Amino acid sequence: MSELLLNHLGGRWTAGTGAGTALFDPVLGDELVRVDATGLDLPAGFAFAREQGGAALRALGYRQRAEMLGAIVKLLQGHRDAYYEIATANSGTVKNDSAVDIDGAIYTLGTYAKLGAGLGAQLKNSRFLFDGEPAMLAKEGAFQSQHVQLPVRGLALFINAFNFPAWGLWEKAAPALLAGVPVVVKPATATAWLTQRMVRDVVDAGILPAGALSVVCGSSAGLLDALQPFDVLSFTGSADTAATIRRHAAVAERSVRVNIEADSINSALLLEGEAPGSAAFELLVKEVVREMTVKSGQKCTAIRRVFVPEAVYASAAEAIGARLAKTTVGNPRNDAVRMGALVSRAQLAAVQQGLQALKTQTEVLHDGATHALVDADPAVACCVGPTLLGARDADGAHRVHASEVFGPVATLVPYRSAAHALQLIRRGEGSLVASLYGSEDAALGRSALELADCHGRVHVINPAAAAVHSGHGNVMPQSVHGGPGRAGGGEELGGLRALDFYHRRAAVQAAPGVLEALAQAQA
Ligand code: NAP
Repeated sequence: MSELLLNHLGGRWTAGTGAGTALFDPVLGDELVRVDATGLDLPAGFAFAREQGGAALRALGYRQRAEMLGAIVKLLQGHRDAYYEIATANSGTVKNDSAVDIDGAIYTLGTYAKLGAGLGAQLKNSRFLFDGEPAMLAKEGAFQSQHVQLPVRGLALFINAFNFPAWGLWEKAAPALLAGVPVVVKPATATAWLTQRMVRDVVDAGILPAGALSVVCGSSAGLLDALQPFDVLSFTGSADTAATIRRHAAVAERSVRVNIEADSINSALLLEGEAPGSAAFELLVKEVVREMTVKSGQKCTAIRRVFVPEAVYASAAEAIGARLAKTTVGNPRNDAVRMGALVSRAQLAAVQQGLQALKTQTEVLHDGATHALVDADPAVACCVGPTLLGARDADGAHRVHASEVFGPVATLVPYRSAAHALQLIRRGEGSLVASLYGSEDAALGRSALELADCHGRVHVINPAAAAVHSGHGNVMPQSVHGGPGRAGGGEELGGLRALDFYHRRAAVQAAPGVLEALAQAQA
Protein backbone atom coordinates (compact mmCIF):
# COMPACT_ATOMS: atom_id res chain seq x y z
CA MET A 1 0.00 0.00 0.00
CA SER A 2 1.21 3.54 -0.69
CA GLU A 3 2.30 6.01 1.99
CA LEU A 4 -0.48 7.65 3.99
CA LEU A 5 0.06 11.41 4.20
CA LEU A 6 -0.36 12.88 7.66
CA ASN A 7 -2.60 15.77 8.60
CA HIS A 8 -1.26 18.60 10.73
CA LEU A 9 -3.83 19.77 13.25
CA GLY A 10 -3.70 20.88 16.86
CA GLY A 11 0.05 21.37 16.50
CA ARG A 12 0.59 17.63 15.80
CA TRP A 13 1.02 15.36 12.81
CA THR A 14 -1.90 12.95 12.80
CA ALA A 15 -2.94 10.03 10.60
CA GLY A 16 -6.58 9.54 9.70
CA THR A 17 -8.08 6.34 11.06
CA GLY A 18 -9.63 5.19 7.78
CA ALA A 19 -8.18 3.26 4.84
CA GLY A 20 -7.56 6.49 2.93
CA THR A 21 -8.14 7.67 -0.62
CA ALA A 22 -5.42 7.05 -3.19
CA LEU A 23 -3.84 9.77 -5.34
CA PHE A 24 -2.70 8.70 -8.81
CA ASP A 25 -0.20 9.62 -11.50
CA PRO A 26 -2.55 10.84 -14.27
CA VAL A 27 -0.11 9.80 -17.01
CA LEU A 28 1.16 6.41 -15.84
CA GLY A 29 -1.82 5.45 -13.71
CA ASP A 30 0.32 4.48 -10.69
CA GLU A 31 -0.93 4.93 -7.14
CA LEU A 32 1.28 7.54 -5.42
CA VAL A 33 0.16 8.23 -1.84
CA ARG A 34 -3.05 8.18 0.19
CA VAL A 35 -4.87 10.81 2.21
CA ASP A 36 -7.33 10.41 5.04
CA ALA A 37 -9.00 12.78 7.49
CA THR A 38 -11.22 10.25 9.26
CA GLY A 39 -11.37 10.59 13.02
CA LEU A 40 -9.67 13.98 13.31
CA ASP A 41 -10.92 16.11 16.20
CA LEU A 42 -11.65 19.15 14.06
CA PRO A 43 -13.24 21.34 16.78
CA ALA A 44 -10.21 20.84 19.06
CA GLY A 45 -7.75 21.38 16.20
CA PHE A 46 -9.53 24.54 15.12
CA ALA A 47 -9.58 25.82 18.71
CA PHE A 48 -5.82 25.26 18.94
CA ALA A 49 -5.29 27.21 15.71
CA ARG A 50 -7.42 30.13 16.95
CA GLU A 51 -6.12 30.22 20.49
CA GLN A 52 -2.45 29.28 20.11
CA GLY A 53 -1.66 30.12 16.49
CA GLY A 54 -3.81 33.24 16.31
CA ALA A 55 -2.60 34.69 19.60
CA ALA A 56 1.06 34.07 18.72
CA LEU A 57 0.69 35.64 15.28
CA ARG A 58 -1.17 38.66 16.61
CA ALA A 59 1.51 39.22 19.23
CA LEU A 60 3.88 39.95 16.36
CA GLY A 61 3.75 43.06 14.20
CA TYR A 62 3.31 43.26 10.43
CA ARG A 63 7.06 43.61 9.98
CA GLN A 64 7.88 40.39 11.86
CA ARG A 65 5.18 38.47 10.06
CA ALA A 66 6.53 39.76 6.74
CA GLU A 67 9.93 38.42 7.77
CA MET A 68 8.35 35.01 8.31
CA LEU A 69 6.95 35.10 4.79
CA GLY A 70 10.46 35.91 3.56
CA ALA A 71 11.81 32.89 5.47
CA ILE A 72 9.12 30.66 3.90
CA VAL A 73 10.15 31.91 0.44
CA LYS A 74 13.74 30.86 1.10
CA LEU A 75 12.71 27.49 2.46
CA LEU A 76 10.41 26.69 -0.47
CA GLN A 77 13.08 27.75 -2.96
CA GLY A 78 15.42 25.21 -1.36
CA HIS A 79 12.89 22.40 -1.96
CA ARG A 80 11.85 23.33 -5.49
CA ASP A 81 13.16 20.14 -7.09
CA ALA A 82 11.06 17.96 -4.79
CA TYR A 83 7.98 20.07 -5.56
CA TYR A 84 8.54 19.75 -9.30
CA GLU A 85 8.80 15.97 -8.95
CA ILE A 86 5.52 15.81 -7.08
CA ALA A 87 3.84 18.05 -9.66
CA THR A 88 5.04 15.88 -12.54
CA ALA A 89 3.86 12.72 -10.80
CA ASN A 90 0.56 13.93 -9.36
CA SER A 91 -0.57 16.73 -11.70
CA GLY A 92 0.97 15.38 -14.92
CA THR A 93 2.33 18.81 -15.82
CA VAL A 94 5.34 19.71 -17.98
CA LYS A 95 8.02 21.84 -16.27
CA ASN A 96 6.72 25.16 -17.54
CA ASP A 97 3.26 24.36 -16.24
CA SER A 98 4.54 23.17 -12.86
CA ALA A 99 6.36 26.51 -12.69
CA VAL A 100 3.09 28.42 -13.02
CA ASP A 101 1.97 26.74 -9.80
CA ILE A 102 5.20 26.38 -7.82
CA ASP A 103 7.18 29.46 -8.84
CA GLY A 104 3.92 31.43 -9.03
CA ALA A 105 3.39 30.52 -5.37
CA ILE A 106 6.90 31.53 -4.35
CA TYR A 107 6.68 34.81 -6.30
CA THR A 108 3.36 35.66 -4.67
CA LEU A 109 4.73 34.94 -1.20
CA GLY A 110 7.80 37.05 -1.99
CA THR A 111 5.60 39.91 -3.11
CA TYR A 112 3.70 39.84 0.18
CA ALA A 113 6.95 39.62 2.13
CA LYS A 114 8.01 42.88 0.43
CA LEU A 115 4.63 44.58 0.78
CA GLY A 116 4.56 43.56 4.44
CA ALA A 117 8.07 44.89 5.02
CA GLY A 118 6.96 48.24 3.57
CA LEU A 119 3.87 48.28 5.75
CA GLY A 120 5.91 47.27 8.80
CA ALA A 121 8.40 50.08 8.21
CA GLN A 122 5.51 52.55 8.15
CA LEU A 123 3.77 51.15 11.20
CA LYS A 124 6.68 50.23 13.47
CA ASN A 125 5.30 47.54 15.80
CA SER A 126 1.64 48.26 15.34
CA ARG A 127 -0.90 45.49 15.89
CA PHE A 128 -3.62 47.20 13.84
CA LEU A 129 -4.20 49.49 10.87
CA PHE A 130 -5.80 52.92 10.67
CA ASP A 131 -8.42 53.15 7.96
CA GLY A 132 -8.78 56.67 6.60
CA GLU A 133 -8.86 59.98 8.42
CA PRO A 134 -11.10 60.76 11.42
CA ALA A 135 -14.55 62.17 10.59
CA MET A 136 -16.00 64.98 12.72
CA LEU A 137 -19.10 64.02 14.69
CA ALA A 138 -19.34 67.22 16.77
CA LYS A 139 -18.48 70.89 16.37
CA GLU A 140 -14.75 71.75 16.38
CA GLY A 141 -13.82 68.07 16.34
CA ALA A 142 -14.79 67.52 19.96
CA PHE A 143 -16.07 64.06 19.08
CA GLN A 144 -14.75 62.08 16.13
CA SER A 145 -14.97 58.76 14.34
CA GLN A 146 -11.76 56.94 13.45
CA HIS A 147 -11.94 53.64 11.55
CA VAL A 148 -9.45 50.95 12.50
CA GLN A 149 -8.78 47.49 11.07
CA LEU A 150 -7.87 44.60 13.38
CA PRO A 151 -6.87 41.05 12.48
CA VAL A 152 -9.87 38.70 12.87
CA ARG A 153 -9.56 36.56 15.99
CA GLY A 154 -10.63 33.40 14.22
CA LEU A 155 -8.90 31.17 11.72
CA ALA A 156 -8.84 31.19 7.93
CA LEU A 157 -10.06 27.94 6.39
CA PHE A 158 -9.10 27.43 2.75
CA ILE A 159 -10.95 24.79 0.74
CA ASN A 160 -8.96 24.65 -2.46
CA ALA A 161 -9.30 23.39 -6.04
CA PHE A 162 -7.15 20.67 -7.62
CA ASN A 163 -5.49 22.79 -10.28
CA PHE A 164 -3.17 24.92 -8.11
CA PRO A 165 -2.00 22.87 -5.11
CA ALA A 166 0.96 25.25 -4.47
CA TRP A 167 -0.21 28.68 -5.60
CA GLY A 168 -3.74 28.09 -4.30
CA LEU A 169 -2.31 27.65 -0.82
CA TRP A 170 0.19 30.50 -0.76
CA GLU A 171 -1.76 33.21 -2.61
CA LYS A 172 -4.25 32.94 0.26
CA ALA A 173 -1.90 32.09 3.12
CA ALA A 174 0.48 34.98 2.40
CA PRO A 175 -2.03 37.77 3.14
CA ALA A 176 -3.67 35.75 5.96
CA LEU A 177 -0.39 35.18 7.81
CA LEU A 178 0.73 38.75 7.14
CA ALA A 179 -2.54 39.89 8.71
CA GLY A 180 -1.90 37.68 11.75
CA VAL A 181 -4.54 35.04 11.05
CA PRO A 182 -3.83 31.29 11.40
CA VAL A 183 -4.49 29.09 8.38
CA VAL A 184 -6.08 25.68 7.97
CA VAL A 185 -5.88 24.40 4.39
CA LYS A 186 -7.90 21.56 2.93
CA PRO A 187 -6.47 20.84 -0.52
CA ALA A 188 -8.51 19.12 -3.22
CA THR A 189 -7.96 15.40 -2.79
CA ALA A 190 -6.72 14.60 -6.32
CA THR A 191 -3.58 16.76 -5.95
CA ALA A 192 -3.27 17.16 -2.17
CA TRP A 193 0.29 15.83 -2.06
CA LEU A 194 2.10 19.03 -3.06
CA THR A 195 0.13 21.17 -0.61
CA GLN A 196 0.78 18.68 2.18
CA ARG A 197 4.51 18.55 1.40
CA MET A 198 4.86 22.33 1.43
CA VAL A 199 3.02 22.62 4.74
CA ARG A 200 5.16 19.79 6.12
CA ASP A 201 8.37 21.56 5.11
CA VAL A 202 7.29 24.89 6.59
CA VAL A 203 5.97 23.38 9.84
CA ASP A 204 9.04 21.20 10.32
CA ALA A 205 11.33 24.21 9.75
CA GLY A 206 9.70 25.92 12.73
CA ILE A 207 9.29 29.22 10.91
CA LEU A 208 5.76 29.83 12.17
CA PRO A 209 4.33 29.62 15.70
CA ALA A 210 2.51 26.39 16.62
CA GLY A 211 -1.03 26.40 15.26
CA ALA A 212 -0.35 29.05 12.59
CA LEU A 213 -0.48 26.58 9.69
CA SER A 214 -2.48 23.35 9.57
CA VAL A 215 -3.43 20.96 6.80
CA VAL A 216 -6.31 18.52 6.57
CA CYS A 217 -6.06 16.08 3.65
CA GLY A 218 -9.02 14.00 2.58
CA SER A 219 -12.73 14.46 3.03
CA SER A 220 -14.18 17.88 3.75
CA ALA A 221 -16.75 16.34 6.13
CA GLY A 222 -17.11 18.32 9.34
CA LEU A 223 -14.87 21.23 8.34
CA LEU A 224 -17.63 23.78 7.97
CA ASP A 225 -19.40 22.52 11.11
CA ALA A 226 -16.27 23.40 13.09
CA LEU A 227 -16.27 27.05 11.96
CA GLN A 228 -17.19 29.82 14.40
CA PRO A 229 -18.45 33.36 13.81
CA PHE A 230 -15.06 35.11 13.66
CA ASP A 231 -13.48 32.58 11.28
CA VAL A 232 -13.17 33.31 7.58
CA LEU A 233 -13.61 30.82 4.76
CA SER A 234 -12.09 30.96 1.34
CA PHE A 235 -13.37 28.48 -1.22
CA THR A 236 -12.08 27.78 -4.71
CA GLY A 237 -13.83 25.21 -6.84
CA SER A 238 -17.02 24.48 -8.70
CA ALA A 239 -20.21 26.54 -8.59
CA ASP A 240 -22.14 23.52 -7.25
CA THR A 241 -19.91 23.10 -4.20
CA ALA A 242 -19.93 26.87 -3.74
CA ALA A 243 -23.72 26.79 -3.53
CA THR A 244 -23.57 24.03 -0.88
CA ILE A 245 -21.13 26.12 1.13
CA ARG A 246 -23.27 29.27 0.95
CA ARG A 247 -26.22 27.28 2.34
CA HIS A 248 -24.22 25.83 5.25
CA ALA A 249 -25.16 27.08 8.73
CA ALA A 250 -21.63 28.41 9.29
CA VAL A 251 -22.25 30.94 6.50
CA ALA A 252 -26.04 31.27 6.54
CA GLU A 253 -26.45 31.43 10.33
CA ARG A 254 -23.10 32.09 11.97
CA SER A 255 -22.08 34.80 9.43
CA VAL A 256 -18.66 33.32 8.73
CA ARG A 257 -17.14 35.68 6.18
CA VAL A 258 -16.75 33.79 2.91
CA ASN A 259 -14.85 34.41 -0.31
CA ILE A 260 -15.75 32.29 -3.32
CA GLU A 261 -13.79 31.75 -6.53
CA ALA A 262 -15.77 29.56 -8.92
CA ASP A 263 -16.31 28.80 -12.61
CA SER A 264 -15.66 31.47 -15.20
CA ILE A 265 -16.23 31.70 -18.95
CA ASN A 266 -13.40 34.13 -19.67
CA SER A 267 -13.12 36.01 -22.94
CA ALA A 268 -10.58 37.34 -25.41
CA LEU A 269 -11.72 40.08 -27.79
CA LEU A 270 -10.09 41.25 -31.01
CA LEU A 271 -11.34 44.77 -31.62
CA GLU A 272 -12.83 45.83 -34.96
CA GLY A 273 -10.52 46.94 -37.73
CA GLU A 274 -7.63 44.60 -36.89
CA ALA A 275 -6.85 42.67 -40.07
CA PRO A 276 -5.36 39.17 -40.19
CA GLY A 277 -1.60 39.53 -39.89
CA SER A 278 -1.82 42.80 -37.94
CA ALA A 279 0.08 43.01 -34.67
CA ALA A 280 -3.13 42.85 -32.61
CA PHE A 281 -4.40 39.83 -34.56
CA GLU A 282 -1.14 37.96 -34.02
CA LEU A 283 -1.09 38.84 -30.32
CA LEU A 284 -4.60 37.43 -29.89
CA VAL A 285 -3.71 34.22 -31.73
CA LYS A 286 -0.60 33.66 -29.65
CA GLU A 287 -2.34 34.33 -26.34
CA VAL A 288 -5.34 32.12 -27.14
CA VAL A 289 -3.06 29.19 -27.95
CA ARG A 290 -1.04 29.77 -24.81
CA GLU A 291 -4.14 29.97 -22.65
CA MET A 292 -5.67 26.83 -24.14
CA THR A 293 -2.55 24.75 -23.61
CA VAL A 294 -0.90 25.97 -20.37
CA LYS A 295 -1.76 23.42 -17.66
CA SER A 296 -3.93 21.69 -20.29
CA GLY A 297 -6.44 24.51 -19.92
CA GLN A 298 -7.01 23.73 -16.22
CA LYS A 299 -6.75 27.36 -15.19
CA CYS A 300 -9.74 29.21 -13.81
CA THR A 301 -8.55 32.25 -15.77
CA ALA A 302 -8.04 30.46 -19.12
CA ILE A 303 -9.62 31.91 -22.26
CA ARG A 304 -12.81 29.97 -23.05
CA ARG A 305 -14.44 32.29 -25.64
CA VAL A 306 -12.59 34.14 -28.39
CA PHE A 307 -14.50 37.00 -30.00
CA VAL A 308 -13.44 38.21 -33.45
CA PRO A 309 -15.13 40.36 -36.11
CA GLU A 310 -17.15 38.20 -38.58
CA ALA A 311 -14.81 39.17 -41.41
CA VAL A 312 -11.76 37.57 -39.76
CA TYR A 313 -13.46 34.45 -38.32
CA ALA A 314 -11.99 32.10 -40.95
CA SER A 315 -8.50 33.61 -40.76
CA ALA A 316 -8.49 33.45 -36.96
CA ALA A 317 -9.64 29.82 -37.04
CA GLU A 318 -6.84 28.97 -39.43
CA ALA A 319 -4.12 30.83 -37.51
CA ILE A 320 -5.11 29.44 -34.09
CA GLY A 321 -5.56 25.93 -35.52
CA ALA A 322 -2.13 26.02 -37.19
CA ARG A 323 -0.44 26.86 -33.90
CA LEU A 324 -2.45 24.32 -31.91
CA ALA A 325 -1.46 21.61 -34.40
CA LYS A 326 2.14 22.03 -33.28
CA THR A 327 1.31 21.24 -29.63
CA THR A 328 2.80 17.90 -28.63
CA VAL A 329 0.71 16.17 -25.97
CA GLY A 330 1.66 13.33 -23.67
CA ASN A 331 4.09 12.28 -20.95
CA PRO A 332 5.57 15.39 -19.29
CA ARG A 333 8.82 13.49 -18.65
CA ASN A 334 9.50 13.49 -22.41
CA ASP A 335 11.27 16.72 -23.44
CA ALA A 336 9.40 16.81 -26.74
CA VAL A 337 6.07 17.17 -24.93
CA ARG A 338 4.60 20.68 -24.50
CA MET A 339 1.28 19.76 -22.88
CA GLY A 340 0.86 17.11 -20.19
CA ALA A 341 -2.26 15.59 -18.69
CA LEU A 342 -5.49 16.53 -16.98
CA VAL A 343 -5.28 15.68 -13.28
CA SER A 344 -7.52 12.61 -13.14
CA ARG A 345 -9.78 10.18 -14.97
CA ALA A 346 -12.73 12.07 -13.48
CA GLN A 347 -11.50 15.32 -15.05
CA LEU A 348 -10.86 13.57 -18.36
CA ALA A 349 -14.43 12.29 -18.37
CA ALA A 350 -15.77 15.74 -17.40
CA VAL A 351 -13.83 17.42 -20.21
CA GLN A 352 -14.96 14.87 -22.80
CA GLN A 353 -18.55 15.24 -21.65
CA GLY A 354 -18.37 19.05 -21.70
CA LEU A 355 -16.82 18.99 -25.16
CA GLN A 356 -19.63 16.77 -26.47
CA ALA A 357 -22.20 19.19 -25.08
CA LEU A 358 -20.51 22.21 -26.71
CA LYS A 359 -20.18 20.34 -30.02
CA THR A 360 -23.99 20.16 -30.33
CA GLN A 361 -23.98 23.95 -30.88
CA THR A 362 -20.63 24.50 -32.58
CA GLU A 363 -18.37 23.32 -35.40
CA VAL A 364 -14.93 21.78 -34.78
CA LEU A 365 -12.19 24.06 -36.13
CA HIS A 366 -9.25 22.16 -34.68
CA ASP A 367 -9.80 18.64 -33.35
CA GLY A 368 -7.83 17.60 -30.29
CA ALA A 369 -8.38 13.97 -31.23
CA THR A 370 -5.88 14.42 -34.10
CA HIS A 371 -3.02 14.71 -31.58
CA ALA A 372 -1.34 11.34 -31.08
CA LEU A 373 -0.04 11.01 -27.52
CA VAL A 374 3.74 11.05 -27.09
CA ASP A 375 5.11 8.42 -24.71
CA ALA A 376 1.74 7.82 -23.10
CA ASP A 377 -0.86 5.05 -23.29
CA PRO A 378 -4.22 6.53 -24.33
CA ALA A 379 -5.97 3.80 -22.35
CA VAL A 380 -4.31 5.01 -19.12
CA ALA A 381 -3.11 8.61 -19.52
CA CYS A 382 -5.54 11.45 -18.79
CA CYS A 383 -4.22 13.39 -21.80
CA VAL A 384 -6.35 15.19 -24.34
CA GLY A 385 -5.35 17.31 -27.35
CA PRO A 386 -6.44 20.96 -27.62
CA THR A 387 -9.74 21.58 -29.41
CA LEU A 388 -10.90 24.83 -30.98
CA LEU A 389 -14.63 25.05 -31.62
CA GLY A 390 -16.47 27.70 -33.62
CA ALA A 391 -19.92 29.16 -32.90
CA ARG A 392 -21.12 30.73 -36.16
CA ASP A 393 -24.48 31.32 -34.47
CA ALA A 394 -23.00 33.50 -31.74
CA ASP A 395 -26.39 34.38 -30.22
CA GLY A 396 -27.99 30.94 -30.42
CA ALA A 397 -25.08 28.88 -29.06
CA HIS A 398 -26.10 29.43 -25.45
CA ARG A 399 -23.91 26.65 -24.03
CA VAL A 400 -20.78 28.47 -25.22
CA HIS A 401 -21.65 31.37 -22.94
CA ALA A 402 -22.77 29.23 -20.01
CA SER A 403 -20.57 26.18 -19.56
CA GLU A 404 -16.94 26.01 -18.63
CA VAL A 405 -15.04 23.00 -19.99
CA PHE A 406 -12.06 22.78 -17.63
CA GLY A 407 -9.52 21.62 -20.20
CA PRO A 408 -7.78 22.65 -23.45
CA VAL A 409 -10.97 23.81 -25.14
CA ALA A 410 -12.01 27.23 -26.43
CA THR A 411 -14.68 28.49 -28.83
CA LEU A 412 -14.21 31.09 -31.54
CA VAL A 413 -17.22 33.42 -31.77
CA PRO A 414 -17.80 35.90 -34.64
CA TYR A 415 -19.43 39.24 -33.80
CA ARG A 416 -21.20 41.83 -35.98
CA SER A 417 -20.34 45.08 -34.18
CA ALA A 418 -18.53 46.33 -31.09
CA ALA A 419 -21.84 46.53 -29.22
CA HIS A 420 -22.66 42.95 -30.20
CA ALA A 421 -19.27 41.73 -28.93
CA LEU A 422 -19.69 43.44 -25.57
CA GLN A 423 -23.21 42.07 -25.22
CA LEU A 424 -21.99 38.52 -25.97
CA ILE A 425 -19.14 38.79 -23.47
CA ARG A 426 -21.60 39.87 -20.79
CA ARG A 427 -23.53 36.64 -21.34
CA GLY A 428 -20.75 35.00 -19.28
CA GLU A 429 -22.61 36.62 -16.34
CA GLY A 430 -19.43 37.69 -14.57
CA SER A 431 -15.93 36.38 -15.23
CA LEU A 432 -12.46 36.52 -13.75
CA VAL A 433 -10.79 38.12 -16.75
CA ALA A 434 -11.30 39.44 -20.26
CA SER A 435 -8.44 40.37 -22.55
CA LEU A 436 -8.66 42.96 -25.34
CA TYR A 437 -6.43 43.16 -28.42
CA GLY A 438 -6.24 46.23 -30.61
CA SER A 439 -4.11 49.12 -31.77
CA GLU A 440 -6.35 52.11 -30.96
CA ASP A 441 -5.86 53.13 -27.35
CA ALA A 442 -9.11 55.10 -27.14
CA ALA A 443 -11.21 52.15 -28.35
CA LEU A 444 -9.34 49.79 -26.01
CA GLY A 445 -9.89 52.09 -23.04
CA ARG A 446 -13.61 52.46 -23.83
CA SER A 447 -14.07 48.68 -24.14
CA ALA A 448 -12.11 48.06 -20.91
CA LEU A 449 -14.49 50.33 -19.00
CA GLU A 450 -17.52 48.70 -20.62
CA LEU A 451 -16.35 45.31 -19.32
CA ALA A 452 -14.75 46.19 -15.99
CA ASP A 453 -17.95 45.96 -13.93
CA CYS A 454 -18.46 42.29 -14.84
CA HIS A 455 -14.83 41.17 -14.56
CA GLY A 456 -12.25 41.11 -11.81
CA ARG A 457 -9.58 42.06 -14.30
CA VAL A 458 -9.43 43.46 -17.83
CA HIS A 459 -6.13 42.70 -19.54
CA VAL A 460 -5.53 45.12 -22.40
CA ILE A 461 -2.90 44.34 -25.04
CA ASN A 462 -1.83 46.82 -27.68
CA PRO A 463 1.44 46.57 -29.63
CA ALA A 464 3.19 48.72 -26.98
CA ALA A 465 2.47 46.02 -24.36
CA ALA A 466 3.32 43.09 -26.63
CA ALA A 467 6.68 42.27 -25.12
CA VAL A 468 5.96 43.24 -21.53
CA HIS A 469 2.41 42.21 -20.63
CA SER A 470 1.94 39.72 -17.80
CA GLY A 471 -0.36 37.34 -19.68
CA HIS A 472 -4.15 36.97 -19.85
CA GLY A 473 -4.28 34.07 -17.43
CA ASN A 474 -1.47 34.89 -15.04
CA VAL A 475 -2.76 36.08 -11.71
CA MET A 476 -0.40 38.77 -10.46
CA PRO A 477 -0.41 39.46 -6.70
CA GLN A 478 -0.41 43.22 -7.42
CA SER A 479 -3.82 43.03 -9.16
CA VAL A 480 -7.11 41.77 -7.77
CA HIS A 481 -8.20 38.25 -8.64
CA GLY A 482 -11.84 37.22 -8.53
CA GLY A 483 -14.97 38.12 -10.39
CA PRO A 484 -18.66 38.88 -9.87
CA GLY A 485 -21.64 36.65 -10.63
CA ARG A 486 -20.83 33.21 -12.00
CA ALA A 487 -17.16 33.69 -11.06
CA GLY A 488 -18.21 33.50 -7.41
CA GLY A 489 -18.29 37.15 -6.38
CA GLY A 490 -14.93 36.90 -4.60
CA GLU A 491 -11.88 39.10 -4.51
CA GLU A 492 -8.32 38.12 -3.59
CA LEU A 493 -4.84 39.61 -3.88
CA GLY A 494 -4.59 43.17 -5.24
CA GLY A 495 -1.54 43.98 -3.13
CA LEU A 496 -2.37 45.09 0.41
CA ARG A 497 -6.09 45.12 -0.44
CA ALA A 498 -5.96 41.38 0.30
CA LEU A 499 -5.49 42.18 3.99
CA ASP A 500 -9.07 43.52 4.18
CA PHE A 501 -10.53 39.99 4.13
CA TYR A 502 -8.49 39.02 7.19
CA HIS A 503 -9.23 42.18 9.20
CA ARG A 504 -12.40 43.55 10.78
CA ARG A 505 -13.13 47.22 10.31
CA ALA A 506 -14.56 49.07 13.30
CA ALA A 507 -15.22 52.72 14.03
CA VAL A 508 -13.86 54.11 17.28
CA GLN A 509 -15.98 57.15 18.23
CA ALA A 510 -14.26 59.26 20.84
CA ALA A 511 -12.88 62.60 21.93
CA PRO A 512 -9.54 63.66 20.38
CA GLY A 513 -7.52 62.58 23.43
CA VAL A 514 -8.60 58.97 23.06
CA LEU A 515 -7.85 59.00 19.33
CA GLU A 516 -4.46 60.43 20.17
CA ALA A 517 -3.91 57.43 22.46
CA LEU A 518 -4.72 55.14 19.51
CA ALA A 519 -2.10 56.92 17.42
CA GLN A 520 0.41 56.42 20.25
CA ALA A 521 -0.40 52.71 20.29
CA GLN A 522 0.65 52.59 16.65
CA ALA A 523 3.92 54.42 17.05
P1 NAP B 1 -14.96 21.08 -6.42
O1 NAP B 1 -15.38 19.70 -6.72
O2 NAP B 1 -16.01 22.07 -6.05
O3 NAP B 1 -13.86 20.94 -5.26
C1 NAP B 1 -13.21 22.05 -4.73
C2 NAP B 1 -12.86 21.79 -3.28
O4 NAP B 1 -14.05 21.66 -2.50
C3 NAP B 1 -12.07 20.51 -3.06
O5 NAP B 1 -11.12 20.72 -2.06
C4 NAP B 1 -13.13 19.54 -2.61
O6 NAP B 1 -12.62 18.46 -1.86
C5 NAP B 1 -13.99 20.43 -1.76
N1 NAP B 1 -15.37 19.97 -1.56
C6 NAP B 1 -16.10 19.12 -2.32
N2 NAP B 1 -17.33 18.98 -1.80
C7 NAP B 1 -17.38 19.77 -0.69
C8 NAP B 1 -18.39 20.05 0.28
N3 NAP B 1 -19.61 19.51 0.20
N4 NAP B 1 -18.10 20.89 1.28
C9 NAP B 1 -16.88 21.46 1.38
N5 NAP B 1 -15.89 21.22 0.48
C10 NAP B 1 -16.14 20.39 -0.54
O7 NAP B 1 -14.19 21.76 -7.60
P2 NAP B 1 -13.18 21.10 -8.62
O8 NAP B 1 -13.97 20.49 -9.69
O9 NAP B 1 -12.18 20.33 -7.86
O10 NAP B 1 -12.46 22.42 -9.14
C11 NAP B 1 -12.56 22.89 -10.46
C12 NAP B 1 -13.30 24.18 -10.50
O11 NAP B 1 -12.63 25.16 -9.72
C13 NAP B 1 -13.39 24.76 -11.88
O12 NAP B 1 -14.71 25.01 -12.18
C14 NAP B 1 -12.60 26.05 -11.82
O13 NAP B 1 -13.12 27.08 -12.62
C15 NAP B 1 -12.67 26.41 -10.39
N6 NAP B 1 -11.50 27.20 -10.03
C16 NAP B 1 -11.66 28.52 -9.80
C17 NAP B 1 -10.58 29.30 -9.45
C18 NAP B 1 -10.73 30.76 -9.17
O14 NAP B 1 -9.78 31.36 -8.63
N7 NAP B 1 -11.83 31.37 -9.49
C19 NAP B 1 -9.32 28.73 -9.33
C20 NAP B 1 -9.20 27.38 -9.59
C21 NAP B 1 -10.30 26.63 -9.93
P3 NAP B 1 -12.33 17.04 -2.56
O15 NAP B 1 -11.31 17.26 -3.60
O16 NAP B 1 -11.85 16.20 -1.44
O17 NAP B 1 -13.65 16.59 -3.13
